[in-house]
Amino acid sequence: MGILSLPEAAAFEEHYITCARCAGIVESADRYVEAMREAARMLRGFGRKRADTATD
Ligand SMILES: [Zn+2]
Repeated sequence: MGILSLPEAAAFEEHYITCARCAGIVESADRYVEAMREAARMLRGFGRKRADTATD
């Protein structure tokens, strides 16, 4: 994670693996990142499909 400094990240990681609430927050953040990635993939695929159609 780019927001936390290294010692902060290590301390947070140590905390959140034992804290269900923080683990839930991290999990939903992971899901958000995954959703964004999926959206980016779809947009890239859409752009490629349009490019292929244009060259036909
Ligand atoms: Zn916590």
